[in-house]
Amino acid sequence: MIPQTCQPPSPSPFPGNIAVLGASGSIGTAALEVIAASGGVLRASALSVHHDTAKLAEAACRFRPAVVAVADQHADRAPLSRLPAGTEVLFGPESLETIARRADVDTVLCAVVGCAGLRSTLAAVEAGKTLALANKESLVTGGELVLDAVRRRGAALFPVDSEHSAIYQSLRARSAAADPLVAGQEVKSLVLTASGGPFKDRTAEELKSVTIGEALAHPTWKMGKKITIDSATMMNKAFELVEACWLFGITPDRIEVMIHPQSVIHSMVEFIDSAVVAQLSPPDMRLPIQLALYRGRRLSGPARRFDWRQPLSFEMVPVDEDRFPAIRLGREVASRGGSCGAVVNAANETAVEAFLSGRLPFHKIVAACQAVLGYHQFEAHPTLDRLFELDAWARKETLKWISL
Ligand code: MG
Repeated sequence: MIPQTCQPPSPSPFPGNIAVLGASGSIGTAALEVIAASGGVLRASALSVHHDTAKLAEAACRFRPAVVAVADQHADRAPLSRLPAGTEVLFGPESLETIARRADVDTVLCAVVGCAGLRSTLAAVEAGKTLALANKESLVTGGELVLDAVRRRGAALFPVDSEHSAIYQSLRARSAAADPLVAGQEVKSLVLTASGGPFKDRTAEELKSVTIGEALAHPTWKMGKKITIDSATMMNKAFELVEACWLFGITPDRIEVMIHPQSVIHSMVEFIDSAVVAQLSPPDMRLPIQLALYRGRRLSGPARRFDWRQPLSFEMVPVDEDRFPAIRLGREVASRGGSCGAVVNAANETAVEAFLSGRLPFHKIVAACQAVLGYHQFEAHPTLDRLFELDAWARKETLKWISL
């Protein structure tokens, strides 16, 4: 499903028209920096935001996309008066799918937050676009649907999540004859690294009294609120484990998770001959974004470099799944598949919102997900519409559980 070979640049112009879905978020903003640094090879031909129309207008003035979209119908429309003349404007959640299918788009970067990204991910793949996937909820919720569509359409899919990009890069170290489509026989295990978030050294007891401010202070990555909390509970790593199973066609028992606080080893592949290949770089999302937008080609870009005159040291310890039960939950979701991802993702979004508004203690976020997963009616192959029904059901059930 993921092309593993680095092709030489073709003489025809590079297909560099990019639709950036989620342009105001941290990934979207970093993607625009990569596009700006590409010297015109990459172009932001379409931009979407959820509701930040001020940021959208600013980006549109700079990048001159043909079309922009605002997913939230109720967003403030006043800043849109500053859009360059002739910019097409779309409103509503379906506008992201419209953008993803446009003839003048080559690659869709899906950096939308939450499972709202699933529909536009599928629209992009069905339309035969190259997909640069940063929205992990697309795979956590609808991995089976997305990967089926990728195979059926022969679409190219490039992971943007730093861990999955690292695995994709490390898998290139296989023998030339290796099947490019699956992790396959040569791979013993995939090792996901995790910064461990701000609470890696806290005891289970101490985790009960975590404040909102503490949970939002991530030591290495600057990201949106939702993913920062997910990284403190390690639910983000649990979702990445599910994502890796779908992307690389591997079972969860062949995935290890190591806490690596410096966040310079972005993940590793262990081969059957005991060799371990890793990808290292300073924590900077512009690198995996650029690699995906250039479809696996390596070009110089804006991502930070190591300073080789400075010492570089790092630690790595196995994650304690008793203190961070999210990892165990991720393994369960990955091995059962079906409706589990949609339910846990929705439960987690609801629980994180409740934590951020002071209605749920930190250590109960994962407990809420476990509880709702435990009493949901498992379905092996839910349709897209059914996934959204399950999502709505799980949100309601989580709110009920929280109010108990
Ligand atoms: Mg990640």
